[in-house]
Amino acid sequence: MSAATTGPAPVTVIGLGPMGRAIAATLLEAGHPVTVWNRTASRATELVAAGAAQAATPADAVAASRLTILSLTDYRAMHDILDGSTDALDGATIVNLSSDTPDVTRAAATWAAHHGASFLAGGLMVPAPMVGTEAAYVYYSGPRAVLGAHEAVLRPLGTPRYVGEDPGLAQLWYQAQLTVFLTTLAGLLQAAAMASAAGVGVGDFLPDALDTLTGIPVMLEGGHELAKRLETGVHPGDLSTVAMMGATADHIVSTSHASGIDTRLPQAIKSHYDRAIATGHRTDNWTALYEVIKPRH
Ligand code: NDP
Repeated sequence: MSAATTGPAPVTVIGLGPMGRAIAATLLEAGHPVTVWNRTASRATELVAAGAAQAATPADAVAASRLTILSLTDYRAMHDILDGSTDALDGATIVNLSSDTPDVTRAAATWAAHHGASFLAGGLMVPAPMVGTEAAYVYYSGPRAVLGAHEAVLRPLGTPRYVGEDPGLAQLWYQAQLTVFLTTLAGLLQAAAMASAAGVGVGDFLPDALDTLTGIPVMLEGGHELAKRLETGVHPGDLSTVAMMGATADHIVSTSHASGIDTRLPQAIKSHYDRAIATGHRTDNWTALYEVIKPRH
């Protein structure tokens, strides 16, 4: 007697923006039967040609698989799609890879539980073209057992990084990382505008700007020393003091102003230094800015 063989598990993907399409395509490539649904039905065309089934309604989509992955602009979109189909949620597992605040995510986990669904929140940490590559990883939070039950299906999207039972935590990790990402991108654009305003070719300038970015991990030596300073609140050092860096921040504001470019980003950075100096950190290392950024209890 031969044991029954089971193939890759069916998966439903709701939301077919660039990210949802990449998720569905990756799951199809991994051999899963994939059911899709999207508000704008035409966005499913290529996936259907590649073998996906297109559900007629959100309820049909959720019913087609034990596991439903959501990839939507925000959690409001999840409610717009599923609030009228909550009967289908009983016994389902929802993995929501959409961005929103930790609080909204916690409320959604409660909502899902109320309707009998298991709920896992996730944050996919690469752009759509990199989904399914070695570089891809995904923060997950919520019940560990739910990730455990579906990890084999989710792993091809990106390496899972489980960050805790609190469903809001994956969003928190995601948004903290996106804080680094968005401010870095804004910094690159600000710097390019300054160079360009002076007649420097952006194409000539940007490679050096990227060298500055990739030099930061070396400067931070893997982050251990930085973590120690932030955790202890002790910021010794005379190489990169608040006074010296603050003077540079001031020069950047002045040069931006003289160049006619927007000064709001440099002003915001300068304000950190100004407040650190005003609260007695002039001779501390630049890491002392943390003391004016973090919450005061
Ligand atoms: P898009 O905003 O391009 O796509 C969003 C999807 O949400 C579409 O399918 C859209 O439907 C649907 N949608 C939005 N509002 C509603 C609504 N009110 N009712 C029904 N459907 C709605 O997002 P992406 O695909 O780029 O990203 C999806 C998620 O992944 C986001 O939360 C994003 O932050 C995250 N992410 C994206 C990355 C990227 O590089 N794109 C990288 C990492 C994370 P319709 O087609 O009908 O408009």
